[in-house]
Amino acid sequence: MSDIRQRLAKLNPRQQEAVCFIDGPCLVLAGAGSGKTSVITTKIAYLVQECGMSARKIAAVTFTNKAAREMKERVGQILKGREGHGLTVSTFHNLGLNIIRRELKALGFRPGFSLFDPEDAKALLRDLMQKEADTDAEQINAVQNQISQWKNDLVLPGPAISHAEDEDQQYAARIYEAYNRHLKAYNAVDFDDLIMLPVVLLKTDPEALARWRKRIHYMLVDEYQDTNVSQYQLVKMLMDERATFTVVGDDDQSIYAWRGARPENLVTLGEDFPRLNVIKLEQNYRSTATILRAANTLIANNPHVYEKTLWSDMGQGDAIRVIVNRHEEAEAERVAGEILTRRIKERAEWRDFAVLYRGNFQARLLELKLQHHQIPYKLSGGTSFFSRNEIKDSMAYLRLLINPDDDNAFLRIVNVPRREIGPGTLEKLANYASERGGSMFSACHEMGLEQVLPTRAVERLGRFAHFIDGVRKRMDQGDAIAAIREMIRDMDYEAWLYQNASAPTIAERRMANVWTLIDQLEKSMHRDDEEGEASEETDDVQSAISRLVLRDILEQQAEEDDSDRVQLLTMHASKGLEFPHVYLMGLEEELLPHRNSIESGTVEEERRLAYVGITRARRTLTLTLARQRKAYGELLDCTPSRFLDELPADDLEWEGRADKENPEKKQERGQSAIAGLRSLLG
Ligand code: ATP
Ligand code: MG
Repeated sequence: MSDIRQRLAKLNPRQQEAVCFIDGPCLVLAGAGSGKTSVITTKIAYLVQECGMSARKIAAVTFTNKAAREMKERVGQILKGREGHGLTVSTFHNLGLNIIRRELKALGFRPGFSLFDPEDAKALLRDLMQKEADTDAEQINAVQNQISQWKNDLVLPGPAISHAEDEDQQYAARIYEAYNRHLKAYNAVDFDDLIMLPVVLLKTDPEALARWRKRIHYMLVDEYQDTNVSQYQLVKMLMDERATFTVVGDDDQSIYAWRGARPENLVTLGEDFPRLNVIKLEQNYRSTATILRAANTLIANNPHVYEKTLWSDMGQGDAIRVIVNRHEEAEAERVAGEILTRRIKERAEWRDFAVLYRGNFQARLLELKLQHHQIPYKLSGGTSFFSRNEIKDSMAYLRLLINPDDDNAFLRIVNVPRREIGPGTLEKLANYASERGGSMFSACHEMGLEQVLPTRAVERLGRFAHFIDGVRKRMDQGDAIAAIREMIRDMDYEAWLYQNASAPTIAERRMANVWTLIDQLEKSMHRDDEEGEASEETDDVQSAISRLVLRDILEQQAEEDDSDRVQLLTMHASKGLEFPHVYLMGLEEELLPHRNSIESGTVEEERRLAYVGITRARRTLTLTLARQRKAYGELLDCTPSRFLDELPADDLEWEGRADKENPEKKQERGQSAIAGLRSLLG
């Protein structure tokens, strides 16, 4: 039996139907853990191996990088060698970026366009808004959100202005228009543009549409419930008449309404494609019956458009533990301790554990505790030190100082801070350098440059090269670290940070990061001195910098690697993933459900978020909460989350809540429980 046949045989009849149905639009609507993503990965292989479709004509999209990576891995296990060549498995935004890259001309961009991250975008907005009147961070955020919403809903500045309902909207729409104009002038796009621009292009440029319809023959979309209007339009435009697509989703897991997701897209799909084949899956292959019952009972509190029944034959499994802690620090300590003991008891690997929480800030204490117990972990979502822009800039300077021929480093910082050296100049410089087989930095010194570049540009490049040469000379002559610190001050990197940050405190923090990096560099040189012979600092700075660069690279690889570590992630980021042992932290009112959702009456979305969190667990689920938590500089009393009351009481095993304690179990649990109880009394 062929590989794909074997795989198909392992799926249940409904899943098989979903995989083998290729003659029209297909929607798989089913609860968590029912094998929706498995349908997608198997179907990709089926299209290639059974239907003979070229992998490069298939595009599978999902929402997070992590999920895309997982999907790629799963497909990679089935498709061998060249079979998978050219297959697109990416996030929606990556697909959009790809389209933009290939359609730069049609979109009216110059080569070398840049992608503004939300911080960059905010800085631009602040400039534009300041021009009109004094503004504060809150107003800027409001306008940024409004613009993002418009872009997600495919509303261009013109219509936004004419449809504005009040003065605030009129103002935001005016800023929106100016903002887009400036982005264009900077040859830049923002995050939401990554979807909106391709859609607008496909709608207005029949040739581009034909190109892309020819390129992508079959589309598969995971987590379909979280698509927004523009993402849906992208799928619809690309697939239109042929309607060769499979989308899978679960309306109970829609958790991105705040980012413009429209679960109604599930209904719209049926209206837009009357031939839609809707397939429901009912068996959950992930979780124990107890965990699944908890998830089903919780989500039953939300209204439902589609009724789904999910069952599991994975056995009843353990009860769900609810651990009440004295305060947030005790909670973090407890989770770390639990992981330590359970790992030994169950002979589990670190990677079998995931700790999920509502907001990234909850991870800080946990990180400290995990470090303290030497538990390896991987934090997703938060920005690691080396991937910060200011650190990347500084690293590029350091790299250029030790290797003037490092063109990548050169390109990163030649115009940071701004030296009015534009992309046109750099392109010519690059051509000139490559003709001579030398680096861009060395080309800056050459006389012949004047023949290809205007005098002003040559002068600016020369000034930059002279500046870097000067720093290198000072490094060679004496205190290398002092020379580096002086360089950072001389070029006034700090002023540049202030110009580009949305708030002075952000710039301050970034500058502090830069100094931290230099301090680390200095320390690592001293350590060498202790170990080896007392060597000249100047000899060492090079290797110290190389070590930092290497750490940077390793850090980036760690992002990709799937080594054995405990996973720390927000519930939002955990979508689509599964782990044998899951800890959900902070089950308290105002945290989960989040305070904003209580105030704005959107608790249902929080319930779906809790549903997503619970359904990540395969074998055990532990819920933790604190009695007191620091917020806004104060120690506040916390109320247990209403979601705890919505879970089946018989399946919960409480710890740290006196009225529900069962004396026998208490003894079994031993020391850790005593600590919990003591905190209860204290
Ligand atoms: P979510 O809604 O959380 O994204 P999902 O519906 O995408 O879940 P999958 O991740 O595809 O579910 O599958 C859940 C687990 O069940 C995976 O470990 C998968 O390998 C397994 N699985 C899926 N289908 C089957 C099957 N027919 N037989 C056995 N195991 C299966
Ligand atoms: Mg999935």
